[in-house]
Amino acid sequence: MPELPEMQALAERLDRMYGQARFLQPQVLQFSGLKTVSPDPSDVAGRTVTGVGRRGKFLVLELGGPRVLVHLSQGGRVDIEDPPKVTGKKMGVVRFLFENRPSMLVKEFGTQRKAGWWVLAEGDDGPLTKLGPDPFSNDFEEFVKTSDDRRQLHNLLKDQRTVAGIGRGFADDILHRARLSPFGKLATLDLEQRLGLVNATREVLTEAIGRERERTGGLPTKLSGRFQVHGAADSECPACADTLASVSFEGNLLVYCPSCQTRGKRLADRRLSKLLK
Ligand SMILES: [Zn+2]
Repeated sequence: MPELPEMQALAERLDRMYGQARFLQPQVLQFSGLKTVSPDPSDVAGRTVTGVGRRGKFLVLELGGPRVLVHLSQGGRVDIEDPPKVTGKKMGVVRFLFENRPSMLVKEFGTQRKAGWWVLAEGDDGPLTKLGPDPFSNDFEEFVKTSDDRRQLHNLLKDQRTVAGIGRGFADDILHRARLSPFGKLATLDLEQRLGLVNATREVLTEAIGRERERTGGLPTKLSGRFQVHGAADSECPACADTLASVSFEGNLLVYCPSCQTRGKRLADRRLSKLLK
């Protein structure tokens, strides 16, 4: 799933490509993709794109008041079509058309979580109202420094209402960098560990944004080489000589280093240990 770094760098590319372009009537390729009823997409057609940005994992097309949001969810991707196309495309969700610019196709190959888009009237924050602070904000730092939250850290980092933009991939990498167990809790961390978590979050995301800025065009189906630890179970820890381990948790595979993160302890699969009781 694309996370903050992919979406940030994509927003920057789209901003360069579509800044000051005239937004034309979008081509709806899949009706369930549009999450809003009003305003109608035709109501915002003809407006000038004043900028493309990111909030959490959402792309935000600014149209001088109204906004169009895009969320790629798990399997959503973006094709830049140069020259612009107007014919239908398999797996297409919506095609955004701009005057004298390439077209932008939002497509998806996922089967579970669907890519979506929203047309918001001026002043309406739509799904953005549910998002917590950005990882680079003071609010996030303050939360980590002071909260007695008792959720498992891996879950906390992935909760978009707590901090916006991180998914399970970068959650693995961040906790590895911070040398904290994915099953640890904020409430039990000392100030040094809390500051370490803030720094690790920002470092890992900043490095990933740097790598993503090398990319050109849209966002391809295969996003490889994004993680140091996530998806690398049974290979060597990038920080020590130990072998990375994995544990199944709520249907996901978390990857961690026992030496760096859990004092050598291997984490038990919670569902499995329940069954064995
Ligand atoms: Zn290690």
